[in-house]
Amino acid sequence: MITRSTPSVQPVEWGQELKLAYTDPRQLLRDLGIPDNQVALGDGAGFAFRVPRPFASRMRPGDAADPLLRQVLPLAAEAGHAAGFTTDPVADLASRRGAKVLQKYHGRALLMLTGACAINCRYCFRRHYPYAGVSGGNDALLGAVRADATISELILSGGDPLMLRDDALARLIDDIAAIGHVRRLRIHTRLPVTIPSRLTPALIDALTRSRLTSTIVVHINHPNEIDAELHETLRTTARAGIPLLNQSVLLRGINDDPNVLARLSESLFDAAVLPYYIHLLDPVQGAAHFDVDETTARGLARILRDTLPGYLVPRFAREVPGASAKHVIA
Ligand SMILES: *Cc1c(COP(=O)(O)O)cnc(C)c1O
Ligand code: SF4
Repeated sequence: MITRSTPSVQPVEWGQELKLAYTDPRQLLRDLGIPDNQVALGDGAGFAFRVPRPFASRMRPGDAADPLLRQVLPLAAEAGHAAGFTTDPVADLASRRGAKVLQKYHGRALLMLTGACAINCRYCFRRHYPYAGVSGGNDALLGAVRADATISELILSGGDPLMLRDDALARLIDDIAAIGHVRRLRIHTRLPVTIPSRLTPALIDALTRSRLTSTIVVHINHPNEIDAELHETLRTTARAGIPLLNQSVLLRGINDDPNVLARLSESLFDAAVLPYYIHLLDPVQGAAHFDVDETTARGLARILRDTLPGYLVPRFAREVPGASAKHVIA
């Protein structure tokens, strides 16, 4: 059974939770009471195992098929090679404008602030991304944004941008706000999902006092990821005036089920989060065992549209290299 780092009511500071994260899959399996021989573990294929304890505490003890466990467990299947699954599946390397700025779509630029994440999701394209160069100061990045008046929205991304400390983020937000043509700031992050205490009052304050209109896009794939602590944290953030959206990845054996997706949408909305995208898997090498085909995805979307209010149905989308927007398939 997973014991949280402290049973007290005082939440553990998020930096401390990062240090306490599981880094050995066998240790996590032991704590969940799952014998090693129930899962075909691999060696991780060069992508480390990393799971913060608040996320692990939402896994069902004794269940080797748990949908949260499956997102993080390095299986032997990762070593397989599938046709079309590559190390740069969405042609990010072709869209780089300098080491930290990615621009694919009109008006929006994505800033890669760090290569680090609190959790390592096995389906992530990031498992192969060459992050060398995504470090150092932000002067070149800010210069590139200043020089392009068509950019009205900046997306803080990574890795996970909330791996940066609050003081660094607050400085960056101020620097961005000083660029007149930028109106909106969007933060794409999974960190508060894995460590809810990451949504600190200092971060919320830096966002709400800025001239920029801010949104946080979280990344939740399964309703079991939303426990009482995360639910409360998200609602507190929304109450402060920051709109919350969610994006998921459609994952075989985890959320490719209309009941799971409907429950996810309803739990998100209860936590003041609107479903935004469900991404079809990027064909990244080592993740083929998670793939759901487009016909199945369209079928799931149809069922959701037939059963949920329109605002609870996310766009099912796929990233097409070179396209001018994400390709909405349903
Ligand atoms: C997904 C993505 C965006 C944001 O797209 P929206 O449709 O506005 O959410 C922006 N830039 C890049 C590089 C992206 O991959
Ligand atoms: S970028 Fe997102 S999906 Fe990828 S490992 Fe980090 S948290 Fe997981």
